Amino acid sequence: MAKYVLLSDLTLLYNYRNFPLLDFLPCAPSSSVPQFIYSFLKGNESPPLDNGEAKYSTYSIRKIESSLLRNNRREEVTVPHFDYIDRFIGDDTEVIGVSTMDPLGLGPLTMSYAILFGNDSYAWVRREWEELLKKINAVKSNKTKLVVGGPGVWEFTIRPEELNKFNIDYAVQGEIDDVAPELFSQISEDRIDKNMFFEGYVSYDESFSRLTRSNSKFISRRIGTRMYPTLDQIPDIVRPTMKDITEVMRGCGVGCDFCEVTLRPLRYYPIEKIKREIEVNVKGGSNSAWLHSDEIFAYMHGKRFEPNYDALIDLFNGVMTIPGITHTNPTHGRISIPAGYPDLIRKLSDIMRAGPDNWIGIQVGLETGSERLAKIHMPNKTLPLKVGSDGSWQQIVWKGVYNMNLYYWRPAFTVQVGQGDETDEDNWETVSLINRLSNSEVNGKPFEFTVTPMQNIPLGLLKNREFSAIKLSESQLAVYYASYRHLAKMAARDAYSEGGGNILARLGASALISLGGRAMLRYVESICRKNGLDVEKVKNYGLGNQKTVIAPVQMN
Ligand code: SF4
Repeated sequence: MAKYVLLSDLTLLYNYRNFPLLDFLPCAPSSSVPQFIYSFLKGNESPPLDNGEAKYSTYSIRKIESSLLRNNRREEVTVPHFDYIDRFIGDDTEVIGVSTMDPLGLGPLTMSYAILFGNDSYAWVRREWEELLKKINAVKSNKTKLVVGGPGVWEFTIRPEELNKFNIDYAVQGEIDDVAPELFSQISEDRIDKNMFFEGYVSYDESFSRLTRSNSKFISRRIGTRMYPTLDQIPDIVRPTMKDITEVMRGCGVGCDFCEVTLRPLRYYPIEKIKREIEVNVKGGSNSAWLHSDEIFAYMHGKRFEPNYDALIDLFNGVMTIPGITHTNPTHGRISIPAGYPDLIRKLSDIMRAGPDNWIGIQVGLETGSERLAKIHMPNKTLPLKVGSDGSWQQIVWKGVYNMNLYYWRPAFTVQVGQGDETDEDNWETVSLINRLSNSEVNGKPFEFTVTPMQNIPLGLLKNREFSAIKLSESQLAVYYASYRHLAKMAARDAYSEGGGNILARLGASALISLGGRAMLRYVESICRKNGLDVEKVKNYGLGNQKTVIAPVQMN
């Protein structure tokens, strides 16, 4: 049996029939999305290899695997397929490490559904997490340590009792690429080195100031030591990743006041490192590279956050010239760069061979339509464009979508409700922006974008489980309604063309998505009406006599 066994949240291992946005499906309440619909739409899990290991795994697990292989033999470190866990776990297994994103269903999108549906909705993310943990506990011995890590660990700081519920020995917080071998060995031998690690966790107060809390169930890096690995301490992956993910940088630096990523040091992967990792995925059968960062236009950017043309062009050129790669796209980026630098977007589109049959999907944190809130919470997000001299926030966004669509980029926006200092007027500004974008055109074609509302819930309310008492205000409901109205429109328009798989699966999934979009809209509409919201007002809000905002933004 293996010494170290590594596993991921199951929800991160499905292909979701290759429909954009379906990756969000597990955030939905299991009480509202029936098992047979969920099982069909989640598609296939990463297939097993002949020996029972998973062919693909999440990027974070692949990084820990590589790190452990520095000090351990190949047969000592394994990443099993869910169906074959019992083949690899035995009495001599020392540590089982599980990476998770949203184990308890407390993430912003999952919570937005919970608030909308008005209950603790037992989301699919949570059901899948519990299924995985039950299966692990059924085969593991008492001697084997069970450890969780990954971006979802913060949820256990809110609900630490969940660790005991599934016999989890430790929750590990933060980046550990450089220290995983030492940490796993110390956990196995029950001797945590206090010079390296702190038994506790880092949290944030209401104003996003860092706090530390002692708790013997948590391990984080000791305060006062180097808290993050340097670039050369981050190992390359050695086996392929789910969805062909490859990281290109860590950190961001733009400084939005609600975002933890900006607190991490900037580390840019050089193109040689990125290529090596993509080649691992190509060997695993991939022809695509999904380039992960939290802000692609920050890749080696300038002092005033101006995009680095040479670095971005070299990056995408380098990726597209790897033998076997035919498609690439970035995961996240901000809207101001497409708004101010259309020639950069055109050049990148040429390199990525974007076109009507090859849209470049990218997630964009729009957060709000309100210029006031944008200035409070994310004053740098428009840089190097300046709100005022280069246009209003809404004009910058409009121009950004126009330029993206012109060169076949499709933004997947997220907007927040419940931000600090939010007023009703701010939410109505968001409604007006969504409506204007939804009714705009580029070259005679409607704007292509999606928009997903997220609930911002203060940690205090989450801790006290008071979120079920949160009632969406009329203006917040208006943001939900405008978003789901546009999503239903997009689902009806694009569901078939964006899917993958054979024709029957594609037809089935596109019909379900299109119907699901309409059903969700009807459901949201009924909640809105019950709460007295005038949905006719929402439909037309911000449109007036003009259908588009003509933006003065012009950088080049
Ligand atoms: S631009 Fe995005 S990743 Fe960067 S600080 Fe703002 S929200 Fe975070």
